[in-house]
Amino acid sequence: MLSDQALIRFRQTLHQHPELSDQEVATAARIKNLFAGFAPDETLENIGGNGLAFCFDGKESGPTTLIRCELDALPIQEINDLPYRSVCDGISHKCGHDGHMAIVTALGSYLAQNRPDKGRVICLFQPAEETGAGAVNVVRDSQFEQLKPDYCFALHNLPGKPLGTVYCKPGAFNCASRGMIIRLKGKTSHAAHPEDGVSPALAMSNIIQQLTQLPQQSQLQGQMTGFNLVTVVYAHLGEIAFGTAPGEATVMATLRTSTNEAMNQLIEQATELVQQQTDDHQLSFSLEWDDVFRASVNSDSGYQRVRNACQATGTPLVTPEEGFRWSEDFGIFTEVAEGAMFALGAGDNSPQLHNPDYDFPDELIPVGFKLFRAIVEEINQM
Ligand SMILES: [Zn+2]
Ligand SMILES: [Zn+2]
Repeated sequence: MLSDQALIRFRQTLHQHPELSDQEVATAARIKNLFAGFAPDETLENIGGNGLAFCFDGKESGPTTLIRCELDALPIQEINDLPYRSVCDGISHKCGHDGHMAIVTALGSYLAQNRPDKGRVICLFQPAEETGAGAVNVVRDSQFEQLKPDYCFALHNLPGKPLGTVYCKPGAFNCASRGMIIRLKGKTSHAAHPEDGVSPALAMSNIIQQLTQLPQQSQLQGQMTGFNLVTVVYAHLGEIAFGTAPGEATVMATLRTSTNEAMNQLIEQATELVQQQTDDHQLSFSLEWDDVFRASVNSDSGYQRVRNACQATGTPLVTPEEGFRWSEDFGIFTEVAEGAMFALGAGDNSPQLHNPDYDFPDELIPVGFKLFRAIVEEINQM
């Protein structure tokens, strides 16, 4: 099994050479090289893009447990002065996926010498988590049929929480979210004669105002339970030209809900709102959706296994009442298999995820490894 020091060095090497979503070629090659030394029973390459799956088989038949981590980094310029600072301008591991990969690598190096008694354990390195596209592409890849997991688990480090404390709950664990792009089209005219054109200005400002109020309104109507939020992230009207009344506008907003059902309702209401405003102001419109994430829903038994793993390893566990607001595409896996995602505190004073000064705390590598080992030991009886 790789030593803690070797794992930390590996994490820092990954940190130094980050790659964006769907471009994780060199990262995947690095992982594949290292795992070749662990002699997995089967290796699947290019799954859902640059994804890799390493299978470790037991002697007897039994359940298949999939442990997932992510390959990709973010388009963020690192400002940390680290000896292993990112060498790629404008790209860095600011979500800690380098650390998650080191944890799953630790598990692989353990499985190299300690095969499960029963069934199969899969170490999955998923591409393109940050865009929300990776998990869908992995599950839709024809190679995924060979994997057919019965159970799946993943962790995400979580700044602002005590280092090494696990957060997990049954049911909705993190939010569904999606980007809404609204394009309004009217007709430009001379600024001296705006009445000859059709300006989207009023509809645009109504949409901005009313979109953000949708969740409260819907809750008042008792239609949507749980956490719901609309955040306007971008708006654009007309051109910088004092002689021209605007004919076009764009509004972008992020919709966020704790359940997939509530998301469907919110989409319906947001669409109705745009329809209504464009009718009222004689505009045409188009809608586009981007960065679509499903909610991650933990099964009761998946949560129970995380709980057992915390007990077995003496790791503190907090079971929050509410799920987390951030989105993660792991929900795609818990739609096809039993399982759970859990968060691992990255320290009260850690910079937040996606901040330019964030760095994964290496102390979490052995903690995450032991939790995953305990989970597969229970399911695959090692
Ligand atoms: Zn992220
Ligand atoms: Zn992440």
